[in-house]
Amino acid sequence: MRIVLLGPPGAGKGTQAKAMARELKLAHISTGDLLRQNVSSATPLGLEAKEYMNKGLLVPDLLVTKMLEDRFGQSDVKGGFILDGYPRTINQAKTLDSILDAKGMKIDIVFDLDSSEAVIVQRLSGRLVCKKCGALFHKINMPPKVSGVCDQCGGSLYQRDDDKEATIRKRLAVYREEVTALLEYYRAAKLLTTVSADDEASIVLKKIIDRARAL
Ligand SMILES: [Zn+2]
Repeated sequence: MRIVLLGPPGAGKGTQAKAMARELKLAHISTGDLLRQNVSSATPLGLEAKEYMNKGLLVPDLLVTKMLEDRFGQSDVKGGFILDGYPRTINQAKTLDSILDAKGMKIDIVFDLDSSEAVIVQRLSGRLVCKKCGALFHKINMPPKVSGVCDQCGGSLYQRDDDKEATIRKRLAVYREEVTALLEYYRAAKLLTTVSADDEASIVLKKIIDRARAL
């Protein structure tokens, strides 16, 4: 089974992708991880990507595409995969289709984790990080024993700029604008299944697994 997983920041996409891979015995292909692995093992593609990153530039689509082509050729992918973090645009979706087509493969289902803005803002804006040791807390879901103080090292907790409400709302607006056409593309291909991600992670996972197994 070959799955594409889409969802806004804060919808729990990474967590779901890992759990899905475990439950359905599929390879988890995260383009973020793929890029980091290529860079850290200094593959030719990784070295090329690093040049862009060092200059503070985005890694070009073509490089990511080549990394994906490599990855799809590896043996653990034969039993199927979950693609996480790609595609983000219609062009990437079309590229993905043609890479897979060349290998005699195709996407079987696309899950879109749909989360309301209020829930995402609550989840992300509640995050607190320890200045000293980097431990993570959450104002509501995982509060520290003493407000503003790290349980582990006593360091002080702060909110990252990325987790401030205004930044989150901006990121969500950018995401929504980008993803609308992509969702239409997969809807037209009759591959799209929308799953509400506002529930607890285990409930969301069960809905996805049941749907995937019914294919
Ligand atoms: Zn700490």
